[in-house]
Amino acid sequence: AKGNGKSQYRFFHARLSERLVTRLTLQAELKRAVENRCLALYYQPRVHAGTGKLTSMEALVRWNHPERGIVPPDAFIPVAEATGLILPIGEQVIDMACRQLAEWQAAGVPVVPVSINVSPYQLEQQQVGAVLAAALQRYGIDAALLEVEVTESATVQQGTNAAGEVAAIKALGVKLYVDDFGTGYSSLSQLKRLDMDGLKVDRAFTGSLTHGASDVSLFRAIVSIGHAIGMTIVAEGVETREQLAILQELGCDEVQGYFISRPVPAADALALFGRRTLF
Ligand code: C2E
Ligand code: CA
Ligand code: CA
Ligand code: CA
Repeated sequence: AKGNGKSQYRFFHARLSERLVTRLTLQAELKRAVENRCLALYYQPRVHAGTGKLTSMEALVRWNHPERGIVPPDAFIPVAEATGLILPIGEQVIDMACRQLAEWQAAGVPVVPVSINVSPYQLEQQQVGAVLAAALQRYGIDAALLEVEVTESATVQQGTNAAGEVAAIKALGVKLYVDDFGTGYSSLSQLKRLDMDGLKVDRAFTGSLTHGASDVSLFRAIVSIGHAIGMTIVAEGVETREQLAILQELGCDEVQGYFISRPVPAADALALFGRRTLF
């Protein structure tokens, strides 16, 4: 039994260091990827719920890995936050989004705002407002063509750097959306004080929308209260025609999700501008 315990210890030890090595490898690779600019943005359209007309493009970061192909953000954003790499990544994302907007404008298509995800860590550690202002100037982009999505947790504490950055972003004339709404703890009065422009209701709420389900009432309440404090309501993760129909009945303003379009590379996104509807 004693020997057994020892080998078990060795087993766990080996597994632990294996994970550590994986993590350190990932860190080193990510650092190189950032230096070599191996990150790219995909774009997912957001549309008017009634007409299907394009209202915004959400920029979603991807890592072009030489062996593993396209790596999704959930596989590296946590490591990026733990190592501080999220700061140069955040700057590259903002730079790429503005450069893309300038390219689309030069192509002569009727552009819509690009919406950028900013993590709580970035809001706390980075002068996001200043980074945005510099990028807008660098590419000659109007602030009205940028939007920023922040999660509830990032916005609730007063007097923090995050709160200051939210105010700085707002002062630029960049619209602010609360991302993953319903998963955090912000009160509506806090949201009202922060003067956010809209709520992106988390896809967990959208996913449970079927005719007759009690979640329909919940969503109706979010729309009604959100509208009462002047917010645009966006439903994330719309995957079915039925969900879309319910959201239209509820007076939800805008929708986004696989039913309309998956996130696509910039070249494919170009074809989505100027279309009468994406439904
Ligand atoms: P998010 O901001 O909530 O973005 C929505 C995610 O849901 C995206 O995953 C999108 O591809 C996916 N999605 C969209 N429609 C549907 C649908 O109908 N059904 C389902 N099941 N999923 C849908 P993605 O691109 O893998 O991004 C995951 C998360 O990574 C994002 O969640 C965001 O929190 C983070 N992220 C992405 N890009 C950035 C970035 O540039 N900076 C930072 N800090 N975080 C980012
Ligand atoms: Ca988002
Ligand atoms: Ca979201
Ligand atoms: Ca999210």
